[in-house]
Amino acid sequence: MAEHSTIEWTDATWNPVRGCTKISPGCKHCYAEVFAERFRGVPGHPYEQGFDLRLVPEKLAEPLRWQTPKMIFVNSMSDLFHDGVPDDYIETVATVMVKANWHTYQILTKRSARMASLLRGKLRFAAMLPHIWWGVSVENKEYGLPRLRDLREAPVSVRFLSIEPLLEGLGSLRLKGINWVIVGGESGHGARPLKKEWVTEIRDQCLDAGVPFFFKQWGGIQKKRAGRILEGKTYDGFPERTSNPVIPAAAALHWAREIREKYYAARGELLPVLA
Ligand code: SF4
Repeated sequence: MAEHSTIEWTDATWNPVRGCTKISPGCKHCYAEVFAERFRGVPGHPYEQGFDLRLVPEKLAEPLRWQTPKMIFVNSMSDLFHDGVPDDYIETVATVMVKANWHTYQILTKRSARMASLLRGKLRFAAMLPHIWWGVSVENKEYGLPRLRDLREAPVSVRFLSIEPLLEGLGSLRLKGINWVIVGGESGHGARPLKKEWVTEIRDQCLDAGVPFFFKQWGGIQKKRAGRILEGKTYDGFPERTSNPVIPAAAALHWAREIREKYYAARGELLPVLA
């Protein structure tokens, strides 16, 4: 969707799906919903249908058109593993990530059981590639810890946790096999409070386990003012990135067309002209 992003831990966002439905307490003040609903009913706007779930096949091949390597947050405005997204669509998204391998992809879900099951089956071809990072959201113990279990059991190369918005102390975490942890507080109106000891407890476990730790924000109503300094320090840890050569633009565009043609042909539809 956007070749540049203001999210602190990524460079760009790519949204081949738009919209979602709430599934757990972390969704209460979903920023994607607030953003999308502002444009409901605006003719021709990408969010004309508000936050209703919809596939956006014209965006499927977008990373193949970006020649500069980026960290790409996949579906910042949705959840790729939502029940309403068909398996074959998710497979096509994964095919693009496999082909455009000069980027690093960050996939984050709250539907961890479906993600883990697909990674053991139809997505096996993409699971172990080190330029694709698979992550789950963890907001509290009740919902977050089972997701952590699903992720740990998924046969992938890079696993990460987005612990945001952190809503309570999580206690002792099993971080074996986890390659990255992001922590942040909720922001905006009605933001639920974040306690420092909840954050330091996670940071200390990451430091002990040698897991890169990224502190995104304290959050609150004025998140810029609250900043992201924790005990006098900025935490900007990332996993190591692999670097793959960028293929020539003509070849990338050929693949982009092939992927889109295949998608539309399977549905008996004509390939639309891109704007
Ligand atoms: S899963 Fe993510 S995108 Fe979907 S409603 Fe919850 S916070 Fe929003």
